[in-house]
Amino acid sequence: MRVILIGPPGVGKGTQAKLLVKKYHIPQISTGDMLRANIQQNTALGQHANTFMEAGKLVPDDVILEMIRVRFLEADCKDGYVLDGFPRTIPQAEGLELMLKKIDQKLDAVLVITADNAEIIRRLSSRRSCQECGAVYNLLFSPPHKTDICDHCGGKLYQRDDDKPATIQNRLDVYESQTAPLVEFYYKMDLVRKVNGMGTIDEVSEGIRKALE
Ligand code: AMP
Repeated sequence: MRVILIGPPGVGKGTQAKLLVKKYHIPQISTGDMLRANIQQNTALGQHANTFMEAGKLVPDDVILEMIRVRFLEADCKDGYVLDGFPRTIPQAEGLELMLKKIDQKLDAVLVITADNAEIIRRLSSRRSCQECGAVYNLLFSPPHKTDICDHCGGKLYQRDDDKPATIQNRLDVYESQTAPLVEFYYKMDLVRKVNGMGTIDEVSEGIRKALE
């Protein structure tokens, strides 16, 4: 199963990707997580990417495509993957198509998850992540048992810089201008399945299950 999840920031792509990982035993490839891991390890790539991420801007396409090219070489990608947060621009989608052609692979579906902006802003401002293990919580739907402490590893929870109000609107604008056009791109390839992202985690997951039937 090779699936792409497209949707505005905070719509639940990461959460739904993790459910697909469990169901299909395929890896989640999240470019956002990969970039944050690089920032935490203070790599050159991380330092470069951080200047864009802090401002809610997209990291340049060539950096992202090279990261994906290398990731695809890993053995766990052999039977498929869930792409979460990639591609995010038309050049990235074109780059992905070229890569897939070379290795003779085809995508199965592009799941487009939708929600209105007010709901997105509400969700993003309530999102907290663990500094240690990266687990994601939402103070509204899935709060940690102890305030600001990770249930899994006891690490401290923090709010991502790009989930702060000043950056959220910018990320939504970037989504509209640069990522939303991908829907048309994949629509022409007959891969788009729309899923309503406004419900609970289980409701959205059920929508995805039906969309993949
Ligand atoms: P995410 O965790 O997917 O919301 O990504 C967080 C930030 O990482 C984004 O706002 C971008 O700055 C950067 N980023 C993640 N994935 C991509 C991508 N495919 N293309 C460009 N920038 C990305």
